[in-house]
Amino acid sequence: MSLVTFSGFPRIGLKRELKRALESHWRGDTGAQALLDTAGMLRRRHWQLAVDAGADVVPCNDFSLYDQVLDTAVLFDAIPARYRPVFAESPLDGYFAMARGYKRGGHDLPALEMTKWFDTNYHYLVPELEAGQRFTLAGDKPLAEFREARALGHRTRPVLLGPVSFLLLSKSVDGSDRLALLDALLPAYAQLLGALADAGADWVQLDEPCLVLDLDEDDRAAYRRAYAALAVARRPRLLLASYFGALGDNLALAAMLPADGLHVDLVRAPDQLAAVLDALPPAHVLSAGVVDGRNVWRSRPERVLPLLRAAQARIGEARLWLAPSCSLQHVPIDLQAETALDPPRRAAMAFARQKLEELRVYADALAGHTEAEAALAAQQAGLDAQVGAAGVVNAGIRACLRALGPQAALRRSAFASRRATQSAAMALPPLPTTTIGSFPQTDALRKARAAHRAGQLDDTAYDALLAAEIERVVRFQERIGLDVLVHGEPERNDMVEYFGEQLDGYLFTKLGWVQSYGSRCVKPPVIYGDIARRAPMTVRWSSYAQSLTDKPMKGMLTGPVTMLQWSFVRDDLPRETVCRQIALALRDEVHDLEAAGIGVIQIDEPALREGLPLRRGDWPAYLAWAVECFRIAAGGVRDATQIHTHMCYSEFNDIIEAVAAMDADVISIETSRSRMELLDAFVRFRYPNGIGPGVYDIHSPRVPDTAEMLGLLHKALAVLQPEQLWINPDCGLKTRGWPEVEQALLQMVGAARALRSELQLCA
Ligand code: GLN
Ligand code: ZN
Repeated sequence: MSLVTFSGFPRIGLKRELKRALESHWRGDTGAQALLDTAGMLRRRHWQLAVDAGADVVPCNDFSLYDQVLDTAVLFDAIPARYRPVFAESPLDGYFAMARGYKRGGHDLPALEMTKWFDTNYHYLVPELEAGQRFTLAGDKPLAEFREARALGHRTRPVLLGPVSFLLLSKSVDGSDRLALLDALLPAYAQLLGALADAGADWVQLDEPCLVLDLDEDDRAAYRRAYAALAVARRPRLLLASYFGALGDNLALAAMLPADGLHVDLVRAPDQLAAVLDALPPAHVLSAGVVDGRNVWRSRPERVLPLLRAAQARIGEARLWLAPSCSLQHVPIDLQAETALDPPRRAAMAFARQKLEELRVYADALAGHTEAEAALAAQQAGLDAQVGAAGVVNAGIRACLRALGPQAALRRSAFASRRATQSAAMALPPLPTTTIGSFPQTDALRKARAAHRAGQLDDTAYDALLAAEIERVVRFQERIGLDVLVHGEPERNDMVEYFGEQLDGYLFTKLGWVQSYGSRCVKPPVIYGDIARRAPMTVRWSSYAQSLTDKPMKGMLTGPVTMLQWSFVRDDLPRETVCRQIALALRDEVHDLEAAGIGVIQIDEPALREGLPLRRGDWPAYLAWAVECFRIAAGGVRDATQIHTHMCYSEFNDIIEAVAAMDADVISIETSRSRMELLDAFVRFRYPNGIGPGVYDIHSPRVPDTAEMLGLLHKALAVLQPEQLWINPDCGLKTRGWPEVEQALLQMVGAARALRSELQLCA
């Protein structure tokens, strides 16, 4: 019989118990023991839940108090010197110092850098390594969790981040070659494997997700060297795990590495099965990742069963394990908590627990249990019934999209001529100033929104509050002399949720939390059906704001790619089709804003870059449809209407051509943290349109003065023309406090004035 297993479970807890325990500990309200008790309770609960759902083998060491990559660094003593004194006082404080920085007892330590875990919305801490780095097995977390589980009656498979992915995901602080550290690292891994074998572990899983990336010859050589070294050590059997994509040109390498089993992602890359079966060594186990660890839908038996039957026919049941495509940490825990969902919607969905139950049914069906086969047939029939169901398909929208010709993605004139029309229409000063959209979300605003949601504050009272807040924001901007104003977005809880709630095709969960980093969780909305706009979404507050002032008021929308990227997306349509539907809804909104007299419209795309596929070869296709969707949203307007976009990241070099192809009249980007480093991209490539490189880092409470902003602007002018330069902060101001914002924006306007007179551009 095939085993049901998985490589990781969400650790935050159904009700975000870990978040609460962490934050209470960080505040100093509870001691270390209370936190460790909650962590132990969650591990115990999750192991039991998985076993009850039908898992035969459960993992351990998939739990983390903060992040599994940080755990690995600490386990092997890759602790930068600056944190050591805190570690010496308390290992737990040292660990959190690396995770979040530390300011106490004379220490003032910044955290490790954080970055996205492959193409997920999970962020890991980037270990810092240097030439001559030493590694030792300094901790016993995997062993301790293995023993803890055994004491509870569970035989677990410890999960470790593999040595090569660990090094590739780290950064070298002195520019030395990370892979040169492999020989220093391997003995510590070998020692750990020996200890796990002694403790009674039959299998250990080594995660090597970097095997799905583009690798060069050095990377491949590192893999060969690493696994040759680990193969001779006294060790449990090794399951080498790849996920998030196809092994592709790394398949031969992955299959020849000395291990005892291989996990492959057959959700993202079902087509690789035949090649994987051909390459699999005769004694290897195949762990088939057949249910989606990245999304919330029930699997389709018509897709999964043929894969499993093909594998079973080739290698037999004993060598075939059934698993989710990747760790379940990227999906919420339990759909049973979602009692408010429509029954047909709920029937089509699966969270972590339901995914394990599905795997159990597949395993039973492979073993010939007729009830399991019947259950899968019923599951498929249920999903088929959804295909044409009301709410899922909107024939009108589909017809509109089909009718949309290629000209829909084009502005009427080229940028140069639009620019002339716009400056005649708007009379902005040179080096115009603006902000990114949101103003501080005060406590009073948040409380009012919560009370309104709970039905304790009626619409009239809530609307009056929003109107007063918008007026205050408008008057403030007028007073300090900003040129293009915003309404401040006080009515928005979240830039995706606000729109999702007003669009058909979206649903929202109660407890659908997914860890983003540390104690931070997001509750992504779910796109289950065709997207359609029911009514104008932003026109009311934007036109109210415009009615308060003679200055141009910028309408604010969240772009189609960002709406897609920060949601769980239906899996019965290509992502690009869903994105086009969103683009069409936004296009109508843009049109209505324009008709209501809003002459500047910003379509934010902060998530455009994070949607990039893991393999470079797949970038052009993605960028082509992503850019086209933006252009569809923006394409219907008159020349006089100025389209802005905003992106909050600084890694521009490799996508600058695509950003230019979006053809926004003005783009605002994050640059102040890197001291305008990103402008390097503009040395190589002459960005043609208007651009506002941020001069105020809103991620920090620090307020830069006019001179500092002027310094940044001078750097920008080394690669940009004065005619194309806008002056703005890095990102929205909603997380900042009013006093800092007032001061910073005042100084920003001062910097603009100073630069205008310096360049003898009069306003
Ligand atoms: N307009 C949004 C704001 O100002 C943009 C947020 C973002 O870039 N993530 O809050
Ligand atoms: Zn931003």
